[in-house]
Amino acid sequence: MIYLDNHATTPCDPRVVESMLPYFSTAFGNPASTIHKFGRDADNAIEKARKTVSLLIGAQPREIVFTSGATESNNIAIQGLVHGSKNNRKKIVTTAIEHKAILNQCKALSKQGYDIVFLPVNRYGEVEFEAAEKIIDEKTLLVTVQTASNEIGTIQDISNLASIAQREGAFFHTDAAQAIGKIVLNVNDLGVDLLSISAHKFYGPKGVGALFIRGGPYSMPIEALTYGGEQESNLRSGTLNVPGIIGLGKACELCSYELMKDYKHVSQLRDYLEGELKESLHVSINGAFENRLPNNSSITINGVDAEALIVNMPSLALSTGSACTSGALEPSHVLQAIGMSRDLANNTFRIGLGRFNTQKEIEQAADIIIRTATELLRLESKRHKT
Ligand SMILES: *Cc1c(COP(=O)(O)O)cnc(C)c1O
Repeated sequence: MIYLDNHATTPCDPRVVESMLPYFSTAFGNPASTIHKFGRDADNAIEKARKTVSLLIGAQPREIVFTSGATESNNIAIQGLVHGSKNNRKKIVTTAIEHKAILNQCKALSKQGYDIVFLPVNRYGEVEFEAAEKIIDEKTLLVTVQTASNEIGTIQDISNLASIAQREGAFFHTDAAQAIGKIVLNVNDLGVDLLSISAHKFYGPKGVGALFIRGGPYSMPIEALTYGGEQESNLRSGTLNVPGIIGLGKACELCSYELMKDYKHVSQLRDYLEGELKESLHVSINGAFENRLPNNSSITINGVDAEALIVNMPSLALSTGSACTSGALEPSHVLQAIGMSRDLANNTFRIGLGRFNTQKEIEQAADIIIRTATELLRLESKRHKT
């Protein structure tokens, strides 16, 4: 099997696994129990991880809150602000190409009387600035736009959007789950107030993540969604997932050394794969040309049903769209939002490359995709003739 679904999740780096192991056994202490050494050791390790996470994105350690992943970070950011802010702004601005962890919250908030407005995107999935300048206004509480798309890989110009929000006095949140560890990100260059991270998207463990909060939890009107032992500045109660957080820290540390190496590796493999497919098939590549994640390829092969293609390539692990929407019969909401017809959307699949893919794997994958697509096209034309 060749794993090509690194947008859905990545394998845990063996160095991450190794860093976590002591925290299941010998160093099992509760970081809140600092009266004894077990607790203090755990607490020290957590604070070291907090520092490593903050360094990767140019933040301060106190600006990092550990969570169970990007879904929870997104929920704390958006609903925490909605419940915590005392002004009467009722407008939330987002895009139609966000992850469900954003879109389904917006749906719920719209039932509670919030005005949800979607920024238009062009055919490359880029937010249109002129519209953003008109839509983001003095009634806007929050603007939330993903850093990069989990389907088509498009990277948004977050700093420009954040400055429009700032000018209008609105908060700006970005879901950076796909971008962290793949491209260089700095919260100060981006100018964001809130940023969501998930460890399992960049070779860390599942079920752990972080939320960056500018100035720290006490400097922003964010209300906790759950109550308990007041961990994480009382914003996210519950005993910390110590091994997970250590793993997240290690994943960040590895990226701080290896990001450029990974970038070069996956973009070379991606460009090779796209080149091979273009030579033999009628393909188009979706998403932005320049501002695209280095590991992403959203590919449309004219006339080839993507589900059928994937089913006929059991040795390749890839998907038609995001893990959270695949299984649904509806074509991807992202492909619809960039104006793709239903037919072409059904001809589209997503490849997500990762640190552990090799040139040999990608040569094999290209060969399998070309052979299978060619066979499906042949069967289809035969069916039309008879
Ligand atoms: C994977 C993903 C999420 C969800 O992250 P979890 O840590 O699995 O909750 C949210 N947003 C984007 C863009 C993602 O790719």
